[in-house]
Amino acid sequence: MTVDTPPAFHVMLKPRGAICNLDCKYCFFLSKENLYPNSSFRMDDGLLEKYTRQYIEAQRVSEVTFAWQGGEPTLMGLDFFKRAMEFQQKYRKPGMRIDNALQTNGATLDDDWGRFFHEHNFLIGLSVDGPRDLHNAYRINKGGAGSFDQVMRGWEYLKKHRVEFNILCTVHAANANHPLEVYRFFRDELKTQFVQFIPIVERDNETGFQEGNKVTNRSVTGKQYGDFLIAIFDEWARRDAGRTYVQIFDVALGAWLGQEPSLCIFRPTCGDALAMEHNGDLFSCDHFVEPNYRLGNIKEIPLVEMAAADQQKQFGQAKKDTLPRYCRECEVRFACNGGCPKNRILHTPDGEPGLNYLCEGYKAFFTHIDQPMRFMANELRHQRPPANIMGYLAQQEAERQQQFARVRRNDPCPCGSGRKFKHCHGRRS
Ligand code: SF4
Ligand code: SF4
Repeated sequence: MTVDTPPAFHVMLKPRGAICNLDCKYCFFLSKENLYPNSSFRMDDGLLEKYTRQYIEAQRVSEVTFAWQGGEPTLMGLDFFKRAMEFQQKYRKPGMRIDNALQTNGATLDDDWGRFFHEHNFLIGLSVDGPRDLHNAYRINKGGAGSFDQVMRGWEYLKKHRVEFNILCTVHAANANHPLEVYRFFRDELKTQFVQFIPIVERDNETGFQEGNKVTNRSVTGKQYGDFLIAIFDEWARRDAGRTYVQIFDVALGAWLGQEPSLCIFRPTCGDALAMEHNGDLFSCDHFVEPNYRLGNIKEIPLVEMAAADQQKQFGQAKKDTLPRYCRECEVRFACNGGCPKNRILHTPDGEPGLNYLCEGYKAFFTHIDQPMRFMANELRHQRPPANIMGYLAQQEAERQQQFARVRRNDPCPCGSGRKFKHCHGRRS
């Protein structure tokens, strides 16, 4: 192994390729089936073993994670995953901890899956877009019907077998204007402690590749995404901090602590989150499973060589090198870093290409959370729980209420608008 190889990298495995039992309207991966005409879309045991050995050998860290995705990975059947566990034990280095994370739509789960996930400590990502109507808007099955009931059945099995899970919720045109309905459903009905909100920015083109600058009308707008996150943040910071983990809030707190963001989309560079198809083809990223981003096949080139290849380094570095000046001078760049390159399809106000489609939302969100994030980061620096934000905001709110109770009509409005109370919050309708 040369010194130039990365100490660790992630690979998203797609053992069943793009094959899925659902037909979600916004899914960016279903069209990848076209890349492999006549394929069986099943990773064979020889390849599974080869990958397991190479992946473990390549990691120079004591904890590694196997990430299973699709399509729908459970369509490989339970026996495939049992063999995967055997291979992991066979090649595990002394002292190495191996975790498994699997993303599923939940529709295939049953008692056997539940027992297996529990026994092997899988972390399950369950795709749910909110309560029934919001979920069913785009997450439909092959018959065109909403998949909500199937997914909820899967959730029941996860709960029954005490499987660790988090909710992966995509934010799109149908649910973007219902942030609290969505968030409270996850918190109060599904009793989840971990939630991710992933924006749908879906290119409108024939190829299914990251080409062109048109997006479908299922996509969330930048403003909607920002408002969505802000509404949830305000509720979370007042009552759920320390109890419910919302990925983007956690990642942002790291940025306010001066750490490099832990999520690839907010890091200055990327390139250490690759994707491998069912036949061993390795690609630069899950969002770039396209011929131009194919690094090779692990049957021909060792995995670690492809992960360290110049092509991959350039892919990751391009994220930084192409960042427009507008972003470089942005006050929240430390937390945003221009977002994922796949969404950089706008021009900046001064005409430079490469601005993120979600910029308006990112800017509004990161600006909105600045003060509470500073507070939480300070608490952490002093070894106090960041959840103290709830008490701090409650105190601020109480003080504001008192000011409103005392204010006279010609006083400045306590809201800080600079206007007289009688022309602002004290205005008679
Ligand atoms: S292209 Fe986007 S999703 Fe892929 S690694 Fe880079 S930042 Fe992450
Ligand atoms: S908020 Fe907008 S301008 Fe600022 S870094 Fe992010 S994408 Fe660039």
